[in-house]
Amino acid sequence: MTNNLRDRNKVSDFIYSPDNFPCGALVTNSERIITYVNAYFTNELLWQPGELIGKSTDVIFTQSSRIFFQSYVIPTLFHEKKCDEMQLIVLNAKGKRFPITVNARFAEDGCIYWSFFNSSKRDLLYEELIKTRETLELQAEKLKLLASTDELTQLLNRREMKYRSALVLEQTVRSHQSVGLLMLDIDHFKKINDTFGHLEGDRVLKELGTLLNEVCRQTDLVSRFGGEEFLIMLPDTNKHDTLIFCKRLHQLISEIEVGGSILTVSIGVSIGTEKISFTDLFTQADTAVYKAKAHGRNRTEMYVND
Ligand code: GH3
Ligand code: MG
Ligand code: MG
Repeated sequence: MTNNLRDRNKVSDFIYSPDNFPCGALVTNSERIITYVNAYFTNELLWQPGELIGKSTDVIFTQSSRIFFQSYVIPTLFHEKKCDEMQLIVLNAKGKRFPITVNARFAEDGCIYWSFFNSSKRDLLYEELIKTRETLELQAEKLKLLASTDELTQLLNRREMKYRSALVLEQTVRSHQSVGLLMLDIDHFKKINDTFGHLEGDRVLKELGTLLNEVCRQTDLVSRFGGEEFLIMLPDTNKHDTLIFCKRLHQLISEIEVGGSILTVSIGVSIGTEKISFTDLFTQADTAVYKAKAHGRNRTEMYVND
């Protein structure tokens, strides 16, 4: 420091002590032998100066921090003459571990000047932030699930079905495949409600939902599209295989009992083989359901463009 500069910074004759800083100050030679420590090392880390002066910095670091120190800190210091914000673990004289943030400067006098900031609180805060983030991510996933599934049957809801079906249709066109869309409507469901009560109606909806979920492939889209209407999309499935699937569905659904009778459904099928919007394909399947109802229910009808 020049005399001028010293005069400018001088506000009193008091000599400030590095021992009063709320952080560790340490000086080593270029071989990392400790030549100075301030009182922080005694007051906070319980090391007596005699236990550190003349020793290698290795005495105050944990094994893993020593490795990091050797392999990163020292090479960086020699190369860049400084090293900032390294997260290391130091040991106090009793062997207790403390997370610290270390900065270092390689000065022109050939010594290395080190500062040690206790970062326990910051680490705790960081851990809390990570936990909070994990909780938020979990909640976001739950919300996403809630927003995309039907509460009663746990199948996809109408909105999610529309969204995913549109994606599958795009893929179908690109890969020149065909896709089967099934609109499935429970026959005389109102009568089930009226005769056995709403709760029994709900039980039937749930049981049918479980069955559809089990019988479909992982890649199929299965949804409760409305009250007692289910929409199923079978990717990469042609007309022949879709009709076989519907036949199987009729069989399995007839095993569901309601008040001593069997449950039946009417199914309308449309097949997408070329570029078609979800709305158009859905309208075709819906038209086919009406046909199945008109032709006596408990049957599958295919949409035909006449
Ligand atoms: P169709 O054979 O022509 O399909 O006759 P349907 O009685 O099945 O059809 P309709 O549209 O007349 O009646 C559907 C009934 O489904 C009416 C409605 O109260 C009932 N429903 C809709 N959502 C639910 C639900 O979440 N739970 C129960 N229990 N019933 C529902
Ligand atoms: Mg209906
Ligand atoms: Mg119905």
